[in-house]
Amino acid sequence: MERWDAIIIGAGPAGCAAAWDLATAGRPVLLLDRAEFPRHKACAGGLTRKSLRALRYSVAPVVRETVSAIVVEKQSGEAATLASRNAVCAMTVRQELDHFCLQQTLGAGAEFARIGPIGGLDISSDGVVVRTAEQDYRARFLIGADGVHSRVRQLLYGESPHWFWRGFALEARVYPTNGEGSELIFDFAPVRRGYGWVFPKHDHLNVGLGVYDDSGSQKLDRARLSLYIHERFGDARVEHVTGQFLGFGAEKAPQAEQRVFLAGDAGGFADPLTGEGIYGAIASGQAAAAAIDGELRGGAAAQRAFAELTARLRQDLQLSASGARWFYGNLDLGYRALTAPVFRGAVINAYANGTKIAGLANAVRRFARIFASRPINETVT
Ligand SMILES: Cc1cc2nc3c(=O)[nH]c(=O)nc-3n(C[C@H](O)[C@H](O)[C@H](O)COP(=O)(O)OP(=O)(O)OC[C@H]3O[C@@H](n4cnc5c(N)ncnc54)[C@H](O)[C@@H]3O)c2cc1C
Repeated sequence: MERWDAIIIGAGPAGCAAAWDLATAGRPVLLLDRAEFPRHKACAGGLTRKSLRALRYSVAPVVRETVSAIVVEKQSGEAATLASRNAVCAMTVRQELDHFCLQQTLGAGAEFARIGPIGGLDISSDGVVVRTAEQDYRARFLIGADGVHSRVRQLLYGESPHWFWRGFALEARVYPTNGEGSELIFDFAPVRRGYGWVFPKHDHLNVGLGVYDDSGSQKLDRARLSLYIHERFGDARVEHVTGQFLGFGAEKAPQAEQRVFLAGDAGGFADPLTGEGIYGAIASGQAAAAAIDGELRGGAAAQRAFAELTARLRQDLQLSASGARWFYGNLDLGYRALTAPVFRGAVINAYANGTKIAGLANAVRRFARIFASRPINETVT
């Protein structure tokens, strides 16, 4: 039985971000995943400017397209283009992005092993044992970066912890018959409490539907997505239709476990207002790595450091959760404010850079009434 400074379960964006930082700090770190890479992950693969900045290395080799404008739609004919001088979002395919990030992480010195089902965790004052059918893995710290259905979270907090909640999204690869590309589109017409999207990927489009709250009667399924695609693109070729939940609620997560951290969707670090989860995954993974390395160097207790390092992110997510409830609950007003000329620069920058997205949601909420009576331009650029 080998002893590692840290074991990380899950080699997605959260796990790789944590492992890269620990490995480059000289820590023996083991990444465990049940999947063989490259593997598919239901995701639109949009990397906002803030995600690109948070990554420790360039992902240019797997960027298929870069966009600097977003089209927002509400009903057919009602659309606004929000443009930026700089790139807003890099378009990747998750299978390619995650494989690339894993290769970078292994290159930095992390080790990787595939595992079967996790039987249990033994947590003591000086370490953690991960029990699997094949063998036990022992480390001083554990990071659960195992996604929305996290086994680590389940073992710590049970099936449905009170602080954790989920959204749901469904996506497909679409090859329009005319071969035409598209702009990046967010369409607020096809679903309630969410949106449809079109993300251009050079040789295809990623098209999907997502809701920030999956608890209502509104169910998204393949038939619904197929209908949406048909309405937009006629007889396009459609491949790889997959759906997955998104993990929310990090803002209310307890910070109690001394040796185990939850990062990414496992810890509820996705953003309910936009559905963006890669940034929260990277940021929370890096925070867990910094907290562990700090304690091992004789600094503050890792759990306290993790709480401090993620405080701002969790505060943003809290505002984002209330922003989502307000925006999708008052869509007419919200859309009018979102596309108002006075906000459009701030909206696109907030989406790209993130720091003010939740604050912006609140500002939109405060000022929406002012714009409620103003007509919307067909296209705002
Ligand atoms: C349809 C859809 C579209 C989306 N589009 C975007 C987007 O464009 N941009 C964006 O920023 N976010 C998007 N998101 C959210 C984003 O996909 C997630 O927030 C992000 O992948 C979370 O990263 P993660 O590392 O926490 O988890 P994951 O990416 O889910 O990785 C978890 C890893 O853990 C492994 N694992 C799981 N369970 C176990 C286990 N028991 N043992 C071992 N390994 C395990 C999995 O195999 C996987 O490799 C989208 C989500 C969906 C569903």
